[in-house]
Amino acid sequence: MLKRAILTFTGVFTAFFLFAQEKPGYDHHALFDPNFYPSSVNEFRLSDGSPGPKYFTNRADYEIAVALDTVQKKVSGTVTITYTNNSPTALDFVWLYLDQNLFTQESRGQAKMPATGRSRYGDANSSFDGGFKLENVQVIRTVNGKAVTGNANKVVTDTRMQIRLDQPLAANGGKIQFRIKYNYIVPAYGSDRTGIQKTQNGDIFAIAQWYPRMCVYDDVLGWNTLPYLGASEFYLDYGNFDFKVTAPSNMVVGGSGNLVNAKEVLSPTEYQRYVKASGSDKTVIIRSADEVTKGTFNKPGTRTWHFKLENARDVAWAASAAFIWDAARMNLQDGKKGLAQSVYPIESNGNNGWERSTEYVKAAIEGYSKRWFNYPYPSAVNVASNIGGMEYPAIVFCNSRSKGAGLWGVTDHEFGHTWFPMIVGSDERKYGWMDEGFNTFINGISTKDFNNGEYSGRQRSGAGMYRFLFGPNSETVMSTPDALNERNIGTALYSKPGYALGLLRDQILGPERFDYAFRLYIDRWKYKHPAPWDFFRTMENAAGEDLAWFWKGMFVYNWRLDQAITEVKYVDNDPAKGALVTVKNLDQMAMPLYVQYTTQSGKTGMVKAPIEVWQNGDTWIQKLKTTEPLKSVVIDPDAVFPDINQDNNKWEAK
Ligand SMILES: [Zn+2]
Repeated sequence: MLKRAILTFTGVFTAFFLFAQEKPGYDHHALFDPNFYPSSVNEFRLSDGSPGPKYFTNRADYEIAVALDTVQKKVSGTVTITYTNNSPTALDFVWLYLDQNLFTQESRGQAKMPATGRSRYGDANSSFDGGFKLENVQVIRTVNGKAVTGNANKVVTDTRMQIRLDQPLAANGGKIQFRIKYNYIVPAYGSDRTGIQKTQNGDIFAIAQWYPRMCVYDDVLGWNTLPYLGASEFYLDYGNFDFKVTAPSNMVVGGSGNLVNAKEVLSPTEYQRYVKASGSDKTVIIRSADEVTKGTFNKPGTRTWHFKLENARDVAWAASAAFIWDAARMNLQDGKKGLAQSVYPIESNGNNGWERSTEYVKAAIEGYSKRWFNYPYPSAVNVASNIGGMEYPAIVFCNSRSKGAGLWGVTDHEFGHTWFPMIVGSDERKYGWMDEGFNTFINGISTKDFNNGEYSGRQRSGAGMYRFLFGPNSETVMSTPDALNERNIGTALYSKPGYALGLLRDQILGPERFDYAFRLYIDRWKYKHPAPWDFFRTMENAAGEDLAWFWKGMFVYNWRLDQAITEVKYVDNDPAKGALVTVKNLDQMAMPLYVQYTTQSGKTGMVKAPIEVWQNGDTWIQKLKTTEPLKSVVIDPDAVFPDINQDNNKWEAK
């Protein structure tokens, strides 16, 4: 999901933020406490951060067929889920998510909406009353090679449904099917993740959280059943998807995955252009603005669009008669190809707007594939919608009003989520930073790469940014999204972990060691469910560094850094013998020490001391091998470390 535009770092974050907090201090034993890891390792997760010999993920394969009723704004149909229990335990019951139930008047998420003001995730005054209507829920077992169907013994509680099984589902590969007939009314504004946007040529339906989905059963907690409240995203298992959407014939439907029946569902002209696009590096228009206005391809009745996506956590789709549709080929690694596509209304076309979307989709995905891990899906669709920015496998919803750097940024961000959490399947509902923070980090590199830095011009002021990210109102990165103050979500889950990973890469480990470890983390945990500790352990093992101090300061606690020069003098009071710079670490975070100096004759130099200088207390005297009086000394002149008070970083000769 896209963070709101919070990062306008200006001088407005003034010193009152700093002095509102309690008196800081530094306890080196708290930072370098040798007992960092809370979890004992076992056969599921190993001490080096890799999945163990008994590691498992359960599997959920989905077959879905729905119809879109554009008058009632209703989705109705049937989902058949084939669930495989790969765990070593027989299961007496299973849990499913019914995320549409957030949009009922009775939901916990609705109850939690602020009485005054507007939340991004909903509105206390909304009278919309949606939610899944379950027409029937059936359990299908195979007994002696024959399918036996029975009604489910089910309990629905808020956004979850338990199905209690009459016989346990066998361990180590036991299979069962669930068939659910359901419908729901699509919310116009669904927690900024699904919705309906009006345009001059018809509504845009952006459809997500649109079918009952299996909760994850894992080795950490068993069933993961946190309710969907709006702020926290999703935690889902992998499987194959085969889904069909029946919509009025004048609509274009964009969906996750391969459009299986393109020839059947498209007009001959559209099909010819669709084929041309899949071989073109330049964007090819499949349905033009003019054809949308004239209704060139409109026919009476309905069309059924059939999509397939393999080894994914989820699928989503969008439908509209207003869609201009264009596409181009993506050139992935190992000779693999894919189709980048965009669907958007006339209002979004032109003036550095959505007519460049496909170019952005293609560039972002090709770049991430090259740098980190090959894009696994056959296509990628960017949908213009009334949603700020939201990701699903092989399809994303971005705001139809985005343009220029904004449209690049949101497109790059949402497709960056392909790697976190679509490929590396961390638990977004609990640890939002493991997808948003990692994604923000890779977005920074991607934006530098795009079109010779077309959109990378904006430089942030370090001091202002740090006062903001580490201010007294900030919260820890390791906070669960639902427990964060809404205005802190952007800093705690996106900017701060994104910055921290960049710092770890550029200053602490160096790109060579970091990139090896980070790629290894992706490779080890692709299509699996890493916990924070698996990430920390992998990075430490692969980079060969004890980073507990870094994880504590940046991720686990809300610690702050304040390095200060307190004294500069000379060895035996003789400048020819060198200088002694006393630096104090005034707050609980510590970082390596960079000391830059200029001598009276204008010579400059820099000394870099490692983190270990802070292991024995809050004061470090750095010797400089200078031979003449100093003019000035500055700590961390480029403000790469998150020092919240840079006024005490400088010394000048009087
Ligand atoms: Zn995001």
